[in-house]
Amino acid sequence: MSLKAMAFIDGAWLYKSRNALFEKLGLESGCEIDYAKLPSLICEQVAKAAGEDVGLVRTHYFGAVPAARPGHAPSKQGSFYDFLERSCGYETDIAEMPVGCDSHAEESWIRMALGASMLFSAVLPAAYDVAILFGDSICYGPMLTKARMLGKRIQIVSAHTSDGTSPLLGSPQVGKQRFFDFQPLFIDDYADQIRLVRELVMRICKKCGSGEQTTWAGPDFFCSKCRGKHRGADDTVIRISTATPRQ
Ligand SMILES: [Zn+2]
Repeated sequence: MSLKAMAFIDGAWLYKSRNALFEKLGLESGCEIDYAKLPSLICEQVAKAAGEDVGLVRTHYFGAVPAARPGHAPSKQGSFYDFLERSCGYETDIAEMPVGCDSHAEESWIRMALGASMLFSAVLPAAYDVAILFGDSICYGPMLTKARMLGKRIQIVSAHTSDGTSPLLGSPQVGKQRFFDFQPLFIDDYADQIRLVRELVMRICKKCGSGEQTTWAGPDFFCSKCRGKHRGADDTVIRISTATPRQ
């Protein structure tokens, strides 16, 4: 019987850590990331380290978005979270933060939500054996020790920083307590595989049936003519299909 893994992604951390990927690839302007591939790629590495089959049963993503204001279109961030859920199979947990809220409060919320979720799932019978944490904050230390006390194995996924520091892995507490069971992984070590290279393909418009060359890889495609017609209209389906994920 294979081990079950659950991925827990700190969205604020992942957003910042894209820089490590871009640096590794030598890209100043950045690139798109294959979010659908990222958790399964890491899961394959866990299987190698464990010497057993590991099945990824769920990917939880935690993020925050400014509270919607009446009369304003959903933010680009909101479209990105829709994309993660609809196209990448993530379970998203997105907090609506008060307008004007600082990034520190957002990060704290995300960490607490992630930690609560990891421990909640840890006490559910047979929910997972291995927790894969995409995040690097010393705040996660107490949560990881408790998950380990419940018999869960921990894989930490971090990123190499330009100054070589790691808040969690570099913490003096690491020498006193065990936070993880597998050697930490770093997303920038997999930069080539995580980079999304979009191919130009012919897609059929869901509304009018005409064909058009596009790099859009989402489930539904609407041609430029139909998108133009509906631009500004309150058409949820078309809005989602044309949204540009935050990268
Ligand atoms: Zn069309």
